This record gives sequence, C-alpha cells and structure tokens, in this order.
Amino acid sequence: MCLFYPDLLKDRITDITLSDLEKLGVQGLLLDVDNTLTKHNSQHLDKGVSDWLEMMKRLGIELTIVSNASAKRLEPFANRIGLKYVSRACKPLPFGFLRGAKRLGLPRKKCAVVGDQVFTDILGANLAGIPCIQVLPIELEKDHPFMMFKRRIERYILNSYRKKQQRTKPGS
Ligand SMILES: [Mg+2]
Repeated sequence: MCLFYPDLLKDRITDITLSDLEKLGVQGLLLDVDNTLTKHNSQHLDKGVSDWLEMMKRLGIELTIVSNASAKRLEPFANRIGLKYVSRACKPLPFGFLRGAKRLGLPRKKCAVVGDQVFTDILGANLAGIPCIQVLPIELEKDHPFMMFKRRIERYILNSYRKKQQRTKPGS
C-alpha cells in the first residue's frame, strides 16, 4: 500500500454514494473543509453540498469536520451546517483524525477521511490506519505559489494512482 494513495478517488464530495461507503465498510466521515466542502477560506456552502450532507445524515452516516484551520474559521461554517468540528488538527499527524473518530463513537476502520490534499488528508489517514476518499480541489490556490507547487506533485501522484487502478481493474 502506498501512503499517498486513497482508497477511493472522486471528482467532488457530492459524488460519494452510500454504496461507496458500504463497500469501504464505513459508517462515519471525517470531513476536510477547505477545497473539499467549500472553497479555500470561504463561508459559502453550495446547495448541492448541503443537500449531500443532509442526505448522508438521513442515511445514518455520522459526520464531523476535521481541519487544520482555526476554530475562528471553522465555527461559523460548522454551526451553519450543524456539524461538530476538530480544529487545528495538525494533519498529517493522526491525532486529529483519532479525536474525530472517537467523537463519532466509531472505531477508526469504520470511518473514512474525505479530503483534497495528498500530504495532509490522504497521508494522515493512511498513517492513522483510517480509510480515505480523495476529492479533487474545488478551486486551485493560484495566489499561493507553495500550494501550486504541492498541487503539481499531487497531480503526478494522482496520475500514477490512476494508472495503477487501470492495471488492477478486473478484466484488464
Ligand atoms: Mg483541504
């Protein structure tokens, strides 16, 4: 297993279905915020994302936010969508994810991390032994040269992940 590869890759968070979660054997999600639920540092929530969150709740999926952002950034957003949060999670270190799983009352294998960044969300989930679903960033951070540099490396990793998926596809 590669520490930089997710268990599942989706374009958008709203593409994740109950059937995907059942296949992974998970009942709870540890959600990243920036560029996963909303644009970087935004308080706006798309109707599609809010409908998806409501649907997951109705289906009995436990949800919490786990983010490296401050409580100041997260609290208004989390309150609006009615979710608890772990702030300053120090991803890719495992502690924030483990706190999130504990808060949901689920063992870590029954949770999945959902996030857009390979070096925080995906690496951290794999280090913590938690399944993970990678989504593509909602919007690239064009004003942040260091983030754009990381995104280039992420694209390289994603391409090798996709090639591996093609090779291991049944029937190919
Ligand atoms: Mg993010």
